[in-house]
Amino acid sequence: MAPPYPGERTEPLVMHEQIAHKVEVLGRRITVDYEQKPLTLIVILKGAFMFAADLARHIDLPITMDFMALSSYGESTRSSGIVKIQKDLDHSVDGRHVLIVEDIVDTGLTLNYLFGHLKARGPLSLRICTLLDKPERRKVAVPMHYKGFEIPDQFVVGYGLDVDERYRNLPDVCRLIREGEA
Ligand code: 5GP
Repeated sequence: MAPPYPGERTEPLVMHEQIAHKVEVLGRRITVDYEQKPLTLIVILKGAFMFAADLARHIDLPITMDFMALSSYGESTRSSGIVKIQKDLDHSVDGRHVLIVEDIVDTGLTLNYLFGHLKARGPLSLRICTLLDKPERRKVAVPMHYKGFEIPDQFVVGYGLDVDERYRNLPDVCRLIREGEA
């Protein structure tokens, strides 16, 4: 494992074995629910890339994948509430069954915005699959059809999630602890 960055350490919160099991279960549920209908996965970059890569391999349906990048956080670890599309979809979702694949729902502001935005583009159906849910800080209700784990209000990294682009390669979802914190 790479050495930690100065002044920081990470502590596993959700282990990779638990993640692998949950991703398999979610993939099976999605496969059953969509009954062989073609499905478009919209992966929210960058945090959801690892989750989406694993999840897609457990979905036994004719799927296509598209990618979107949104910004709401900047360099900070708290949501600004301002959502900007940095990379839009390459293909239309009009008339398609669409499943948004997200890493984590915190205040809900990002997904609330995205859900409304994509709904207006005419998909046949629109659902959300998130790996992590931090319900304590929710500001707006978000319909999460598929959810991996509920976690406490702590900043996490690993399994695709970063802080300033670091730690995405950790296999576990980890709590990020900075010097002076418990
Ligand atoms: P929301 O709009 O729900 O507050 O925030 C959603 C986005 O904030 C997520 O897609 C993710 O990029 C970022 N985020 C929220 N909580 C965390 C966290 O604990 N760790 C990391 N790395 N990103 C987070």
